[in-house]
Amino acid sequence: MIVKIKKNAERANVEELLHHLESKGFDIHSSFGTTVEIYGVVGDTAAFDIRSLYAYSCVESVIRIQEPFKKVNRKIKSEDTIIDVKGVKIGGNNIVVMAGPCSVESYEQVDIIAKTVKESGATILRGGAFKPRTSPYAFQGMGVEGLQILRSVGDKYGLPIISELMDTEHIDDFVKYVDIIQIGARNMQNFALLKQLGKIKTPILLKRGFANTIEEWLMSAEYIMSGGNDNVILCERGIRTFEPYTRNTLDISTVPVIKKLSHLPIIIDPSHAAGKWDLVESLSLASVAAGADGLIIEVHHTPETAMSDGAQSLKPKKFKDLMVKARSIAIAVDKTI
Ligand code: PEP
Ligand code: MN
Repeated sequence: MIVKIKKNAERANVEELLHHLESKGFDIHSSFGTTVEIYGVVGDTAAFDIRSLYAYSCVESVIRIQEPFKKVNRKIKSEDTIIDVKGVKIGGNNIVVMAGPCSVESYEQVDIIAKTVKESGATILRGGAFKPRTSPYAFQGMGVEGLQILRSVGDKYGLPIISELMDTEHIDDFVKYVDIIQIGARNMQNFALLKQLGKIKTPILLKRGFANTIEEWLMSAEYIMSGGNDNVILCERGIRTFEPYTRNTLDISTVPVIKKLSHLPIIIDPSHAAGKWDLVESLSLASVAAGADGLIIEVHHTPETAMSDGAQSLKPKKFKDLMVKARSIAIAVDKTI
């Protein structure tokens, strides 16, 4: 529920109100504008008589939040969440670009790619070490060794790293080695995993499942936040539709919809949406124009021989060209890359 405080309310009365709500076991999020003071109150408020709060003279109004998602809801927190990953800001007026190979294949491979993406302006290095492959016979990733490679190359170039975690078993390795934990489309509703992620503080990039609604996606973010981890970044990566030309259909409308419903940052993965490298630039530029907080793009210096997703990986030169164009679009929407 949302509690709005009267202008010039007596401070002692506001304190009393907050103590009362805390004593009921609710979590309280404050939001101060220039003229308004609002408290978002989260918890099991179903059985709570919200009218009782009008007994406090400072209360102007109390309303219930209708949506099932509370902590991720913009009604609870009106200002954008900005997540700081070793000085790289995700959210607000920044557009963050994460780039790198689909899979970590060797130290040399990650080193070559990291160097070029950094030169072009990427500020976070991506690379999968545990791969959710459709076929059990396909390359499954280098595992912990892959995380170690990503970590040492990231440190060499001063790039924070992101990698995909697939199960609860490896959480400790990820907390140790990575700066952002990616939860892939296939695990968006792995609630046991999401609950564990609520117990850590490492930022989580939560991809939308390819057959999930926006509300289901926000509920998954709610699982992580309700467990105590506020550092959630949403990532749209395309959904499954009847259209076979692209690997998935990029749902660009998620950007304005998420901006309206939630305070969390949203970034776009045009690579997995397109499935084809020659579509990645257009989708990236459209995402920036739509107001996305960032992009995560697959880049490979020899995509022909990539262990996974070569068909959608950009060569370094194409990535560089994309970054130049994305910067001019960013200016048009008052953002910076
Ligand atoms: C990936 O990022 O390489 C990946 C497997 O992503 P998704 O979960 O979006 O398919
Ligand atoms: Mn991939």
